[in-house]
Amino acid sequence: MSIKQVGIVGSGQMGNGIAHVFAMSGFDVLMTDISAEALSAAMAKIDKNLDRQVSRDVLSPDDKAAAMARIKTTQTLTDLGQMDLIIEAAVERETVKAAIFEDLLPHLKPTTILTSNTSSISITRLASRTDRPEKFMGFHFMNPVPVMQLVELIRGIATDEETFKACYDVVEKLGKTSSTSEDYPAFIVNRILMPMINEAVYALYEGVGSVESIDTSLKLGANHPMGPLELADFIGLDTCLAIMNVLHDGLADTKYRPCPLLTKYVEAGWLGRKTKRGFYDYRGETPVPTR
Ligand code: NAD
Repeated sequence: MSIKQVGIVGSGQMGNGIAHVFAMSGFDVLMTDISAEALSAAMAKIDKNLDRQVSRDVLSPDDKAAAMARIKTTQTLTDLGQMDLIIEAAVERETVKAAIFEDLLPHLKPTTILTSNTSSISITRLASRTDRPEKFMGFHFMNPVPVMQLVELIRGIATDEETFKACYDVVEKLGKTSSTSEDYPAFIVNRILMPMINEAVYALYEGVGSVESIDTSLKLGANHPMGPLELADFIGLDTCLAIMNVLHDGLADTKYRPCPLLTKYVEAGWLGRKTKRGFYDYRGETPVPTR
């Protein structure tokens, strides 16, 4: 089936990036959020990020204007019902995601494909609560979406080949590369990445090193472009904690125990860059380590 119209639920860090890349590739986008402020902030962010691409000659000013014109917003979730493809990118909480799909169901056309950008929640379980588990799959973009090349495609147990092929073709049209993961907790990227980040927080918690020495060690010693704590702040500490909890619960292995210090930062509301404080304090000119 050919996909032309794409609905995006949630206009946060991921939702606005997803809207950006779809609009740039010629898809019509309808984006929704429960927060009007989040929707207008997302449009401003997309405008700014497209401008950056124009200044780097990646995009012409006309292409930018055409991309912006392809993105519409609404605060009414059910307006997305007639889209060909829906990508849910709301907060990483299963109850929220399940409620979104439940509210959408009566308004969907029979051919609509449902997907979730979840970093870790079971696709099979989310799909089982809908009327179309065969037309449901995981569509996992990486942050920041306009920059990162990979999209993980996750098949639930019931996902049919036609749905998988349709999503695979969309990734090709976006000019990105897909990898395929089976539906086990946190899939491939986060199954490997999050325990490393959690271990870096344990190293900090146990006093093995400071924020700065842990990040410098991995950048210069393992050739990582960002240190693990810097990366955690970039992803969002609430998202990191949620993913560790899914690994811990889903695989029932103590090696995935979230570090108490990670929990403490989340309890403080220090969620990383998005709240201006995490393992670093971003309120000044340059980030300052908080420990
Ligand atoms: P975010 O907190 O930046 O944005 C979430 C948005 O969802 C907010 O604007 C919020 O208002 C909105 N929202 C909450 N409940 C809603 C509802 N019922 N209906 C509509 N909108 C609702 O979060 P994010 O970082 O963009 O993450 C979104 C999803 O993408 C999560 O599932 C996360 O695991 C996944 N993800 C995140 C990253 C990352 O690096 N941040 C990477 C890949 C995937």
